[in-house]
Amino acid sequence: MNIISLSILYLWPKPFKLVLKEIYGKIESEDAPDAWDILDEGDYSFSKKYNLIHYKQLKASGVNFTVHGPFLSTDYLHPNSNVRRRSLSQLKASIENAAQFSPLAYVFHPSTVPKGFSPNKLKVEHYHFLEEINDFANSLGLRVFVENNVPGMGHMLTTPEEFIEFYERTGSSLKMAFDVGHSNVGSHVKRFLELLDCKIGVVHVHDNNGVSDNHKIIGSGNINWNYVISKLKASNFSGPYVIECVQDPFRALKLLRTLLGCRP
Ligand SMILES: [Zn+2]
Repeated sequence: MNIISLSILYLWPKPFKLVLKEIYGKIESEDAPDAWDILDEGDYSFSKKYNLIHYKQLKASGVNFTVHGPFLSTDYLHPNSNVRRRSLSQLKASIENAAQFSPLAYVFHPSTVPKGFSPNKLKVEHYHFLEEINDFANSLGLRVFVENNVPGMGHMLTTPEEFIEFYERTGSSLKMAFDVGHSNVGSHVKRFLELLDCKIGVVHVHDNNGVSDNHKIIGSGNINWNYVISKLKASNFSGPYVIECVQDPFRALKLLRTLLGCRP
């Protein structure tokens, strides 16, 4: 049975103490998710000792986590080596901290395309970055997944073709976090599922109208969720589903459980 993890994105950027209140408050509650997807960013950063201690305590008391890495600064290909190094160090520190409470999955974003550069020219350098992160995380016993980003917003790895080329040229063992909402903005949902189903290790769930990435509740946009779920089931997808809806997150959890046939 697939695990369903609930992203705390619906609380962002409220104070961290509200995140703790929410997670502690749901322990042993009927509508608790199987895991919480926590964000290593800003006030929620794992580099703050207080935050990390609480996550470790929660883990020790039986709460499971999936992790979303830093997303505000992803300048892994920036022409300025200081900027590049700072982004890379932040990501590696995040992976090291996360490894201390053994999340079920760790998802990170591909690089931003620096202004004035063509993604095509930078793709090989980006492959090296992806492999470096995969090796680094594996050495710490952590499973990491790279997420398809929103097309047209200046990021690497937004289309199925870019992922196919990456796998063909590198033979990488790095699997992808398939963000259904992001892929819907570029009308790529079907092609991702048809061409890359065997590479999907995590699925991000939220809806939109195909124009903007607004992280709506399942069913309020134009994504055909019955198709998505049946296709993933047919490919024996066994990884976690992460709900990234910013409105009605617990209704989204119920809806997804029904779609997956987990509970009546
Ligand atoms: Zn996502």
